[in-house]
Amino acid sequence: TAKIIDGKAIAQKLRERLKREVDDLKEKGITPGLAVILVGEDPASLTYVRNKRKACREIGIRSFLFSLPETVSEGELVRKIEELNGDEQVHGILVQLPLPSHVNPANILPRIHPMKDVDGFHPLNAGKLMAGEKTFIPCTPLGISVLLKEIGCRVEGKHAVVVGRSNIVGKPAGQLLLNMNATVTYCHSKTADLQKFTSMADILIVACGKPNLIGAGHVKEGAVVIDVGINRDESGRLTGDVNFEEVKEKAGFITPVPGGVGPMTITMLLSNTIQAAKQIHRLPWP
Ligand code: NAD
Repeated sequence: TAKIIDGKAIAQKLRERLKREVDDLKEKGITPGLAVILVGEDPASLTYVRNKRKACREIGIRSFLFSLPETVSEGELVRKIEELNGDEQVHGILVQLPLPSHVNPANILPRIHPMKDVDGFHPLNAGKLMAGEKTFIPCTPLGISVLLKEIGCRVEGKHAVVVGRSNIVGKPAGQLLLNMNATVTYCHSKTADLQKFTSMADILIVACGKPNLIGAGHVKEGAVVIDVGINRDESGRLTGDVNFEEVKEKAGFITPVPGGVGPMTITMLLSNTIQAAKQIHRLPWP
């Protein structure tokens, strides 16, 4: 049976290291700061924002919350972002998604200064990732790459299959793995015969938001299975996109939900915020 990848423990270990980095920066007179813009009161978004701010506090990053009403205009949102772009205490800016339907993220995200774009959603940074240049990498894909390193998975030459092609997870995850010299296949909602592709994967990344989309029949013996999905079943319990009980009998490694990818995502936000502070102050960053 598969080894369970303990994302929580790995994240905890990384956060201790990041806290030391923050302490070093503070000795230089720099306190990394993250500004979070929350529009409306979507309960899931409220929870995510609360968790992100708590994680910041725990390692000494300053966090600033700007709660704007559901009815905010694109113009007002852009003005807030521009103000934060010029704020020296703010090194990272994050706009919590999803935005209300009258706000087009394509009009908002590009207004974040690329050097403060800790989510890595700015088109310039997305383009740099595609070009294989150093940049802010979206937190969930970055967290996945760290998990793969932590379990000693050599990516080079492997066949990675990414199920899901969102700009937030699937697409950048595939690009990052390509930069790490994997052979990458993307699957999505229009893919004919999903199982044909997933069952060829050495590394299978699933980011769809469809509970039990992936069963044992979709998975190659010994594969590394990374389940990004977050779903709630009828009893309110969190589940992923992978049928964990079934697939863990066949995979080599598997992430649980919760406790796999989730804790890594926030950890990478902390890491990106520290990188942003270093970059703005012209300190070396990896
Ligand atoms: P999304 O809705 O933007 O994209 C879903 C993708 O899945 C689409 O590209 C779609 O083509 C594909 N898809 C849908 N049904 C499919 C099917 N039957 N077969 C193959 N592909 C299919 O979602 P997203 O923002 O990429 O998030 C995906 C999931 O990951 C969600 O459950 C989300 O909550 C979760 N998520 C988790 C984290 C984390 O930190 N763990 C972070 C971000 C998102």
